[in-house]
Amino acid sequence: MRFIEPKNIAKYQDSNKYKIAKSVDFKCGHCSRTVNFLLVWDSYNESSMFTSSRCSGCGEESRFYFVEIKENEQETLTGDLYISPSAELRRIADGVEITEKFSSSMLRAYNSAVNVYNLGEWSGAVVLCRRLLEGITKSLLPESEQNKPLNKQLEVIAGHAELQKPLLTLAHAIRIGGNLGAHFDLEREPDEVVSKYIIDMLDYLIEYLYVLPKRIEELHSHIEELSNKNSER
Ligand SMILES: [Zn+2]
Repeated sequence: MRFIEPKNIAKYQDSNKYKIAKSVDFKCGHCSRTVNFLLVWDSYNESSMFTSSRCSGCGEESRFYFVEIKENEQETLTGDLYISPSAELRRIADGVEITEKFSSSMLRAYNSAVNVYNLGEWSGAVVLCRRLLEGITKSLLPESEQNKPLNKQLEVIAGHAELQKPLLTLAHAIRIGGNLGAHFDLEREPDEVVSKYIIDMLDYLIEYLYVLPKRIEELHSHIEELSNKNSER
């Protein structure tokens, strides 16, 4: 069961008493497509309500629960909407946090890329991945190199950062995938598969550059503590 955020509610019912969703855009738990579910509430209740709706993609039925119903200041009954079953939503890589090297705007860009991916907007997702790649290269390069085009930045990055060939190849792949989303092309448009590859690669890159060094440091200090403890004996 997954909570449906108000931003996913496309339309509310015309009712003076209830503020309750009439249609929601959400990822189907059966086929993982983001589709519109039309919600028809047969009976109204002040404690909890239930309905079901079929996915326009696969035709399977999802259940919707309206719970935690409360009266707001406008004397309208509002509540929380949940869907079941829920599709797996993608999250940002574990252990990513704001540091000197990974700024809050980079974290925001990363979150946006993942959110747009979860909405099934493949072109948008790869464009945002490419944008974050720009943020990453900028964070690794001196200011004098930061205004070059992204492919040039990646060429010079080898001299400035510990970005070895496999990772550079990976960064180029994200750049190329992002271009596919950014430039209109009737023949080639990123689909779910491309988008998934690109965002997977972005996860690897971020883990390698920002998460792994922190883990290694933690391991070192833990080993240090162990040897201190042993010498105290
Ligand atoms: Zn479906």
